[in-house]
Amino acid sequence: MQTSVNAQFHQARSATPTPIFTRQTILNNPGFGKHYSDHMVAIDWDVSQGWHDHRAIPYAPLTLDPASLVLHYAQAVFEGLKAYQHPDGSIWTFRPELNAQRFINSAERLGLPELPQDLFVQSLKELVQLDKEWVPNTPESSLYFRPFMIANETFLGVRGADKVAYYVIGSPAGPYFASGVSPVPIWVSTQRTRAAKGGTGYAKCAGNYAGSLAPLNEARRNGCPQVLFLDAEHGQYLEELGGMNIFVVLKNGTLVTPALSDSILPGVTRASVIALARASGHDVQERLVSLNEVRDGLASGQVTEIFACGTAALIFPINALKSDQFNYRLDAQAAGPITLSLRKQLIDIQYGLVPDTNKWMVRL
Ligand code: PMP
Repeated sequence: MQTSVNAQFHQARSATPTPIFTRQTILNNPGFGKHYSDHMVAIDWDVSQGWHDHRAIPYAPLTLDPASLVLHYAQAVFEGLKAYQHPDGSIWTFRPELNAQRFINSAERLGLPELPQDLFVQSLKELVQLDKEWVPNTPESSLYFRPFMIANETFLGVRGADKVAYYVIGSPAGPYFASGVSPVPIWVSTQRTRAAKGGTGYAKCAGNYAGSLAPLNEARRNGCPQVLFLDAEHGQYLEELGGMNIFVVLKNGTLVTPALSDSILPGVTRASVIALARASGHDVQERLVSLNEVRDGLASGQVTEIFACGTAALIFPINALKSDQFNYRLDAQAAGPITLSLRKQLIDIQYGLVPDTNKWMVRL
């Protein structure tokens, strides 16, 4: 029985015996973010040469000097997108040019160099060509790509790095809702925010996630799998979850979502949900949404559905917004019809089950 390179690596590191993972056992039940494909693509950058030494290499631990800038000042950005296997066995990804552009915008905010869009997309193709067998072919499963860029210059002074590295790794991912899509309560972080005006909220940088973890721990202690952040200035407008954007559905079918700003990550799923909802005849409003508006709408029945969306979970129905001071509940046991319809439309496009009229899919 053949074990994957990284499964062997994890077994070698572990003092206690771990189960032997073959690629097939992993693909039968991949979970999320726990297993990695056999290769990775790397590209180096420095001030004098620009991007160079583009290569595909076996997945393996990195060697970093303890004085690498990234370890001290979090000069790091990343992305998340997926490869989907279609019924004919071909492998596709979803709107990668949006992730590539967001990677450029994130890098700019963090003082990192721009990775050209075509290099970004090419690196995904290279990884899939080597690791095709790691793309699951079961429903709602995918190979999750994690492209990232780190300041690997050895230097302890505080300034932007003159030497960085880009990598992309792949991780098979199973269905987020293994036993059916069911709504969950969300914890509202009333004391701690995620991002401020002029800050890094719109960038997908490591530090934003570090700052979200104590509030996320608080959410989990209170039985909520995710945390919702409010705006830093007034503490009353919805921003987004730690890793997803949020939508509120009104009784008349209108969708409302916080307008993008420099404190909200512009989700690819968010943009796609807006386009699909408008194409199905829904009014979609991108504007300020206050917690009080949602509270009152839930009480009066004006708010009929709430969902979050992002690449990892796709669309995630919500049935309560809670904190230690309130519990605003949606009287619904199951996900709402608009939530489910948008979710199905996205899945059908991503998995090649309907014609891709928007030309969102890119073959890898
Ligand atoms: N907000 C945050 C903070 C995120 O980390 C993500 C995941 N990238 C999203 C929103 C959703 O973005 P996308 O739809 O591009 O995955």
